[in-house]
Amino acid sequence: MAQTDLTNRIEVHDRDTLATARAVLDACVDPAAMGEAVKAAVGRNAQWRGEDCINLLAPEAPTSPGVRALLAAEIGTRAAEGHIGRVNRWFAGTRHIDEVEALCVELLKRHFRCNYADHRMCASMIGNAVVYTALTAPGDVVMTAPQPTGGHSSNRLDGPAGAMGRTVVDIPMDPDELVVDLDLFRRAAPLARPKLVALGLSMTLFPQPVAAMREVIADWGGRFFFDAAHQLGLIGGGQFQDPLGEGADIVTGSAGKTFAGPQSGIILWNDPEITEAVTTAVFPVWAATHQVNRVAALALATAEAIEFGAALQAQIVANAKALAQALQDRGIPMLGAHKGFTTTHQAIADARGFGRGLAAAQQLERANLIVNKNLLPADRKEDWDYPGGLRIGTIEVTRFGMREREMEAIAELIARVLVRGEAPEAVLPDVVALRHSFPTIHYCFENGLPPG
Ligand SMILES: *Cc1c(COP(=O)(O)O)cnc(C)c1O
Repeated sequence: MAQTDLTNRIEVHDRDTLATARAVLDACVDPAAMGEAVKAAVGRNAQWRGEDCINLLAPEAPTSPGVRALLAAEIGTRAAEGHIGRVNRWFAGTRHIDEVEALCVELLKRHFRCNYADHRMCASMIGNAVVYTALTAPGDVVMTAPQPTGGHSSNRLDGPAGAMGRTVVDIPMDPDELVVDLDLFRRAAPLARPKLVALGLSMTLFPQPVAAMREVIADWGGRFFFDAAHQLGLIGGGQFQDPLGEGADIVTGSAGKTFAGPQSGIILWNDPEITEAVTTAVFPVWAATHQVNRVAALALATAEAIEFGAALQAQIVANAKALAQALQDRGIPMLGAHKGFTTTHQAIADARGFGRGLAAAQQLERANLIVNKNLLPADRKEDWDYPGGLRIGTIEVTRFGMREREMEAIAELIARVLVRGEAPEAVLPDVVALRHSFPTIHYCFENGLPPG
């Protein structure tokens, strides 16, 4: 059974990690042992990331016990494809699945105050592909934000937009203000005449001029798409600009980021004119069967957001501001300092004085402080594997009930590693102790609001 000879000469994944996995499987006495090896790795992650780390990844959130339970529910073994309703489905036996999916759609519409919502995409990457399918054709010009100022591959040449043959033109961004440069946009957009402006930012600190941009492209009937992958929860909780209210035609979002639900791609819109194009781009273009367990969990997470969303998202933003200020006070330069650091769940550090983003993130990881390396506006193409910044998010620590005081403590732990050069292993016990003193997920029906 040994397959150690299958060493591919061309491999994109890290070859050593794959070789280790092959060695583990080779050492297993039977397939049951191989299954146990998988479960053991999952268990190690649950202990380390789930119990002992302070997780500050901006695109990550812990889900409530109820949401997690639904992800393992029986309904997830059932096949449902197509649209809700007896005639629309190919498979019989979907009467309760229809109930669950309809509850999910109606909860999303309520929470996001919109006329239409789709729940079927397993990721926002694919939600974005739906929008490109529905509102553009191959060869059409789309304007999207470049990565060093926060743009995401899903809207760029190297992601679905490019793979589907759309011509990608840059939205001009102001590298200091970290918002769209409206003067430049007013000059560039009429030259490119984009069919669609897709504004999606993975590095997102401040609101964007959605209404003004919409006005510019209205001249030639361009559509505005706000990719709110990161901001979805903030928008639902009323703690960020409301892109649909400001004139966006369509919004997508990742349910696993600020929204703190199961990873999913949500699509929201108001205009009945685009409903058929969007809904039929979901099915039969980008989904067949669509993880009904995830849909059930999403419905429950949306009910949680209706009850707790405003309080959770307000504290997430307050914590991000406090953390950014506390890091800056300790000698770590933070982006957006001249305008209050942030209005979202993110704080962006300039790590060029600390060995750049990758080395800094790896140092912090040795202390169980989990952040990600991040491009800065000044980074060039050749810097992309070793970018200058760090992105730090406050979703998970907030959901565990931490507040501004704990942000001071976290900034101190980060500064001990990065600024004062303490060995990460010496800082680690204090990280674990802080994490252990906040064991409970809040802002959910089981545990309510955090105390205090
Ligand atoms: C994270 C992200 C996505 C992709 O979302 P997934 O749910 O991970 O597929 C798309 N756009 C932006 C701007 C993002 O930050």
